Parts: sequence; structure tokens; C-alpha cells
Amino acid sequence: MSAKIIDGRHISEQLIEEMAQEVKERMAQGYKQPGLAVVLVGDDPASAIYVRNKIRSAEKAGMLSIVKRLDESCSQQALDDVVSELNERDDVHGILVQLPLPKHLSEERIINLIKPSKDVDGFHPMNAGLLSLGQATLIPCTPLGCLELLKREMGDISGKHAVVIGRSNIVGKPMARLLLLANCTVTVVHSKSVDPAKLCQQADILVAAVGVPELVTRDWVKSGAVVIDVGINAIEQEGKRKLVGDVNFNDVVDKCQAITPVPGGVGPMTIACLIKNTLIAATLSDN
Ligand code: NAD
Repeated sequence: MSAKIIDGRHISEQLIEEMAQEVKERMAQGYKQPGLAVVLVGDDPASAIYVRNKIRSAEKAGMLSIVKRLDESCSQQALDDVVSELNERDDVHGILVQLPLPKHLSEERIINLIKPSKDVDGFHPMNAGLLSLGQATLIPCTPLGCLELLKREMGDISGKHAVVIGRSNIVGKPMARLLLLANCTVTVVHSKSVDPAKLCQQADILVAAVGVPELVTRDWVKSGAVVIDVGINAIEQEGKRKLVGDVNFNDVVDKCQAITPVPGGVGPMTIACLIKNTLIAATLSDN
């Protein structure tokens, strides 16, 4: 079997073009330009790249983009003040604080401080709770992007057995909730699970969000499964730095129906869903 390689980059570009059209139409009706503010603390190179890509995509969609940079050593109060100011601005519809933060700053505090209606990452407890109840408007971007890929690939996923590896608040748990809302039978595998390979072998849909390079090998994958690899892991191979997923791509590729590559699979979809959430937040703000 030769798996279909799911081109997340191409799909995300299509989505951003569609949203650019919607932004134009909204503005033609007299609404404000949707605005996304990204807060970056410190100079972690990976975070800087993520922020640059998010801003670039917001601009491609015709949105206003604002970057607030703070020094690595900034105080919690200084960060709180920046977020509080953005909460009050009516040209800012979405706020994202790039994680991880330096160790002396509280991620929990800052997530709680962002106005739920501007929380385009969907991490605020209120938005997480609404997702659990099936009433969410702002859903975490990475799981939302994974679901979009699954629906495009498989159509109706109702009744499928989905196994999610990982139970983080930002990927694993919201992914499991979304799959449940789409009427899948959902198993969550985590670091304390017994015999994870055996659990994963039952999956029609396998989503890996672990952070362990190439953990998922051929014997974990059911023949004909759709595999979504969320992992982004930098490794050294033959003296070169390389990005790999949580799935050993070459080992499983001829066993599955479809698979996302790393890079170029889930990553770009995360950004497209951030833009989508900003548009939703702008629409709901009604200004
Ligand atoms: P995390 O460290 O918060 O959570 C990892 C989860 O994996 C935990 O719940 C843990 O129980 C589970 N786990 C760890 N070892 C395991 C094992 N051996 N077997 C089974 N489960 C195990 O990580 P996260 O923030 O959820 O991110 C996961 C991966 O996804 C990372 O590689 C991260 O870089 C990547 N990521 C990618 C995107 C994207 O846009 N593509 C977005 C967010 C995260």
C-alpha cells in the first residue's frame, strides 16, 4: 500500500486565501480589520520563528498584526500589563502569548488573564470548559487543524476508533474532546499507559502528540490507518540538525492509508487555525 501524504502546507495556504476573502468582505461591510496581537518574551529562536510565521499568515489574510516583544528578564507585572492593555484595545480581536515562557513567569496566570473572547489559542479555562461541553467557539489551534485534516481525508469520521497519544492541555486533551464530539470512539494513551503499541494497533485514526522522536513504529500502526503526527522534535543525524515527528515516517508510510509529514503537515494547519480563530473572535466582537 502506498500512503497518501497529507499536504498540510497546501491546505493551510488554501484556508488562508479563503479567510483573506472573508476579511475583505467583512471590511467592505464596514467592520474593523480583524487584529491579532502576539506577545513574545525573550529570544528563543524556535519561538521567534513561530511568531514570525503567525504574523506573516495574519498579514496574508489581510489582518492587522501587532507584535509585543518583552525582554527575557521581564517581570510578571510587565507581562500582565501588556496583556491587560491588549485586552482593552478594540482593534485587537485575538491575543496569543507565545509559549513556553521563561521559567520565572507563570503561564497559568497569563492564560487566565487573557479575555476569553480574545483567547485565540483556546487555552483559557473557560474555553477549555466550553469545549468539554461541546459549546466552544475558540478551540485550540493544533487539534482543530488535525480535525480539519482528518475530515478532508476521511469525510465522516463518526464511529471510527481514534487513539490519541498524549494528554497535554494544549494538544492531547482537546484533540480527544474534538474526536469525541465528532462521534469517534476515543482512547487516550499516555506515559503511564500499559502496552501503548497494542492500544495504538486498534486505531483507525492515530494522533501522536508526545514529543518523543519517532516513538511510533510499524508495529504500533493498524494497516490502513490514518496517522496524524503532531510532534516536532529537533534531532542530530549524521552531524546535521533535522526535524522529525513522533512517528517514524519511513517505517510506517507503506502501512497506512494517509499520513502527515513533519515538517509540512500539522504545523502549518496550526497557524491557519489561529487565523481562523482570530476571524471568529472578530466576528463575535461585532466591531
Ligand atoms: P507535552 O510534553 O505537554 O505532553 C506530552 C504527552 O505525551 C504527555 O501527556 C505524556 O503523558 C505523553 N507521553 C510522554 N511520553 C510518552 C510515551 N512514551 N508513551 C505515551 N505517551 C507519552 O507535549 P505537547 O505540548 O502536547 O506536545 C507534543 C508534541 O507536539 C511535541 O513534539 C511538540 O513540539 C509538538 N507540538 C506541535 C505543534 C504543531 O503545531 N505541530 C503544536 C504543539 C505541540
